[in-house]
Amino acid sequence: MSVLVFVEGVDGEIKKSSFEAISYAAELAKKKNTHAVAVVIGAYPADALESLGKYGASKVLNINNDKLKQPVIQPYATAIAEAANKETADVIILSKSSIGEAVASRLAVKLKAAVVSNVIELPDLSGGFKVKKSLYTGKAFANIELKADKKVLTIAKNACSVTETGGKATVESFAPSIPDTDFSTAIKEVSKATGDILLTEADIVVSGGRGLKGPENWHLVTDLAKALGAATGCSKPVSDLDWRPHHEHVGQTGIKVSPNLYIAIGISGAIQHLAGVNSSKCIVVINKDPEAPFFKAADYGIAGDAFEVVPKLIAAAKNYK
Ligand SMILES: Cc1cc2nc3c(=O)[nH]c(=O)nc-3n(C[C@H](O)[C@H](O)[C@H](O)COP(=O)(O)OP(=O)(O)OC[C@H]3O[C@@H](n4cnc5c(N)ncnc54)[C@H](O)[C@@H]3O)c2cc1C
Repeated sequence: MSVLVFVEGVDGEIKKSSFEAISYAAELAKKKNTHAVAVVIGAYPADALESLGKYGASKVLNINNDKLKQPVIQPYATAIAEAANKETADVIILSKSSIGEAVASRLAVKLKAAVVSNVIELPDLSGGFKVKKSLYTGKAFANIELKADKKVLTIAKNACSVTETGGKATVESFAPSIPDTDFSTAIKEVSKATGDILLTEADIVVSGGRGLKGPENWHLVTDLAKALGAATGCSKPVSDLDWRPHHEHVGQTGIKVSPNLYIAIGISGAIQHLAGVNSSKCIVVINKDPEAPFFKAADYGIAGDAFEVVPKLIAAAKNYK
């Protein structure tokens, strides 16, 4: 038996959420007295694959197949199911990402496994296999017992910290046989959102709201983001007004972010915005209205005018560097 973890990358770089997933899989493997095996689809330098051992994977299966260059869900599910069978894995871990979620359900069907998404803690193995998952954008939790022999879990972002415990993993090429029928859909073109740092993967997010008055003032958000190495986000009205592109819109109807630090500038803190940020580790709110609802969800708050506060923060961040 082993614990298998699916590792995702973007543009040849392993995603931060996958390091969390490997750390989770390694912790779980330790609890189960077994080992964690990572499965990586795509071409990566050998040292990048070996280095996954640092996070606790004892072995890496690398599937390097030109037909899998784009993440098409059916063949990915087949490839990971074959890897799970090869490694006699009884638990398969994926990140809660758009690919991870879509693959997980198909994988569960293929392996006749129980599946739970958005898991936020390591399983409780005393007398069974129970996991805790987050529901309704973090407003409720469910404890679920999985009774099938095989289990598929998707792990919420920030549910597990990245721990560097191991050394080098052994790397093995793996060529699963994938039927042509799995390729009934194909991604023809991908147009990427602009921005250097992926909002969903960012460690720090600086977001602006209608309190910034107009797009001409957005340099306050982008300059602070640049000084901190952060991604930029915004509230819904800001993208509706075309001050910022729609892919930056954070909230219930936009992107859900889980950074270590979320800085909200001139955003009131409506419940629909909070739904997209409440799994952030630390929230800092800058708002000139001390009664703004966002302060209730904040770890740190600055009640002040963004046009005075943010330039000082930018200068301090640059100075600190
Ligand atoms: C079905 C539905 C779904 C929605 N989904 C989303 C969603 O996904 N994401 C989202 O963001 N919203 C969403 N909304 C909209 C949401 O309800 C709020 O209207 C929106 O979040 C408010 O945006 P805002 O805080 O930027 O603007 P405002 O509510 O106008 O707030 C501006 C804030 O800026 C502060 N301010 C003003 N001047 C300054 C200054 N100089 N310095 C500092 N602070 C200042 C004000 O005190 C105020 O708190 C949704 C609404 C509905 C009905």
